[in-house]
Amino acid sequence: TTSSDPTLRSVATNGAADGAERTSGARVPSALEMAVTQLRRAASLLGLDAGLVKYLETPKRVLTVSIPVRMDDGRLEVFTGYRVQHSLARGPAKGGIRYHPAVTLDEVTALAMWMTWKCAVLNLPFGGGKGGVVCDPRALSPRELEQLTRRFTAEISVIIGPDRDIPAPDVYTNPQVMAWIMDTYSMQQGHPVPAVVTGKPVEVGGSLGREQATGRGCAICAEEAARRLGLDLRGARVVVQGFGNVGRYAALHLERMGARVVAVSDSRVGLLDERGLSVSELIAYKKAQGSLRGFDAASTLAPEAVLQVPCDVLVPAALEGAITADNAERIRARIVVEGANGPVTPEADEILARRGVTVIPDILANAGGVTVSYFEWVQGLQEFFWPEEQVDRELSRRMRQSFDDVWATARRLETDLRTGAMALAVSRVAEAVRLRGIYP
Ligand code: GLU
Repeated sequence: TTSSDPTLRSVATNGAADGAERTSGARVPSALEMAVTQLRRAASLLGLDAGLVKYLETPKRVLTVSIPVRMDDGRLEVFTGYRVQHSLARGPAKGGIRYHPAVTLDEVTALAMWMTWKCAVLNLPFGGGKGGVVCDPRALSPRELEQLTRRFTAEISVIIGPDRDIPAPDVYTNPQVMAWIMDTYSMQQGHPVPAVVTGKPVEVGGSLGREQATGRGCAICAEEAARRLGLDLRGARVVVQGFGNVGRYAALHLERMGARVVAVSDSRVGLLDERGLSVSELIAYKKAQGSLRGFDAASTLAPEAVLQVPCDVLVPAALEGAITADNAERIRARIVVEGANGPVTPEADEILARRGVTVIPDILANAGGVTVSYFEWVQGLQEFFWPEEQVDRELSRRMRQSFDDVWATARRLETDLRTGAMALAVSRVAEAVRLRGIYP
């Protein structure tokens, strides 16, 4: 339940749409405030027209739905869900669906905007979208979760579709949830429509390599950054905050590259071991127990305390707003790879930049997931499936190309990597808008 999960609780206060007061008094910006600040920084560097900035700050389409669910105890519960399409300028909307008690329309809007930039950075033929349902998925039975998913899908089916808007997994949703979305939409259409959603199980049209893609992409970004900074990843110290789909595979692939994972956390516990934790053991334990709590490590600490463990590579892979003006001075990493969306606030960005910490921005660092989602969508449309090596090879090629593009743009504009990535993305989207023109 919400109260027993410290992360769910802290986000419920810190992630509030209007921003929230922290004990120290520093104001934590909402996700949407962060997204708009980032956009304006890039827009002013590009000298973008004020009207166009306004256009890009505003989502194209917003849908709010209510989701009645008959609960196991016979009660009728009504949940609230959202699907936001930020931009369709470069293609159909693309982006995940999040189940979390702290979901707000502002947060979903920010996440949709970040998807637009992410797809543009990777040069995928998609716009940006996001969905969310305000609920505590850990308190729902499997049957309740399925009912919630099916009704939500039915409600948003008026705007999603394989050539309109293609959902995918995000926080607390998984391949099983995607299979229910695919089934519900297909039942309504009267025939299978696998390309309506990505992140599906491989058995029903998912792509090999999709599950590990986001974490693998994070590790590739760390490798590219380390090489340019003259840091050897072999023996490098790695800390991973968050042990969901992103954190666990980022840790695994960094370990495979020879790094030593000295600390990890999930929403319940932080683990520290100077000799290096075995990532495959952590993954097996988390799968079996549902949490890292109780894992036999050298020492334990509060989940948020892992952010301050000295390391070469820090991967915040939990939720937005993890690194703020309050703790940015205490980050002791050389490279921060944003596995989560929006884990570093704009104020913290400035502090980290001043302190010489290299931040690989979310819209590049965690883009491996949506990139393999693109491959999954293409494979589904063609009904022709690739071997895993091909997926991994294409992912690696595209991630490294995009890393190069972002690095070069930041160099050219004499700015940090986030602003460089944003400038690249925003100029691509702006060019699509300019070419298409304003209807009517
Ligand atoms: N939710 C993931 C993200 O934030 C994946 C989106 C997708 O695959 O469409 O990038």
